[in-house]
Amino acid sequence: MDFIARRITNIPPSGIRTYFDIARTMPEAINLSIGQPDFEVPEPIKRAAVEAIRANRNGYSASAGVPELREAIGAALTREFPDWRPTIMVTCGVSGGLTTALAACLDSGDEVLFGDPYFVSYPYLVRLLGGEPVPVPLDARFMPDPERFAAAITPRTKIILLNSPSNPTGVVYERARVQAVAELARARDLLLISDEIYNVLSYDEPVPSPVSFAPERTLLLRGFGKSYGVTGWRLGYAAGPAELIEQMVKVQQYTFVCAPHMAQVAGVEALRTNMSAQVAAYRNKRDLVVAELSGAFEFVRPSGGFYIFPRVPRGFPDANAFVETAIARKVIVIPGRVFSRQNDHFRLSYAVPDARLREGCRILAALSK
Ligand code: PMP
Repeated sequence: MDFIARRITNIPPSGIRTYFDIARTMPEAINLSIGQPDFEVPEPIKRAAVEAIRANRNGYSASAGVPELREAIGAALTREFPDWRPTIMVTCGVSGGLTTALAACLDSGDEVLFGDPYFVSYPYLVRLLGGEPVPVPLDARFMPDPERFAAAITPRTKIILLNSPSNPTGVVYERARVQAVAELARARDLLLISDEIYNVLSYDEPVPSPVSFAPERTLLLRGFGKSYGVTGWRLGYAAGPAELIEQMVKVQQYTFVCAPHMAQVAGVEALRTNMSAQVAAYRNKRDLVVAELSGAFEFVRPSGGFYIFPRVPRGFPDANAFVETAIARKVIVIPGRVFSRQNDHFRLSYAVPDARLREGCRILAALSK
């Protein structure tokens, strides 16, 4: 098919989808590859979406989002960062925030630095939008090393993309590291994009944000999907410098047009919803996974999100071999190469009921013997 662009044929389909498809053919398997929470959407949020549809909030909204949601986001951000006055737009999930931001910033060949392991979309989305992805290895605790980031900067570097709590590691970056990277961005005049999609699902210390250290050059991206269990609603937001958000809104006008209108209205209710019970349940799942895998695997203890990224045990040549064996035992996890230039770890998602999770962990732990 001659009419398909090399820009897209050069990009492989998402490595996660492969495991999604395997999971579909194995309904009896314990699926620890899932990227969304297993809790019910709180009833008031569901009701708000239904009422919004009934109230005829079904047409286009302003591209930047409905005023009541932008105001609610602004109020929440002012409580969290009292001195910060960002411009806010509503996006189609965090993916929509990343897409509009990269489209607004990247000229052909501009470089974007991000830690390796990384969220699957980063390298391909950067490439799709004309940029050059530059994965920078994270340290042994999966924290960004400011010296490695500094060494990777070239005259073409425009953006450092941070993700904490992180997918696939579940690690929350230490305050001092975030501060050092923020100072590096300021010294080298780079934009910081902070993907904080898992900020609500945090189990130990509060999540440090570069907004606290370089508010003038941080684009904050957050989502409703993981926090409230509405991944299919495609709702998120971007907050940052007015001149950048203005260009992102322009991209949105010509692409997504707006985030789903009724979901935006329900988003106001979501921001009023206390998720502490769900967060506590996920903290317990984190503790359960850590307890079950301790001794069997080497791993960094996760503090947020719902993933853990253990090292493949000795005896397996690489993560593909380990994952194949796990799938033969009816437990689905994802090999590290999907998230990394390396292939010696695997990602386990603990967003499943506790009994299944325990059983899955025990089957995996037995493979390490
Ligand atoms: N960033 C990270 C780190 C993610 O894990 C995900 C979803 N798995 C996204 C962005 C995209 O999220 P959304 O569904 O809000 O587009």
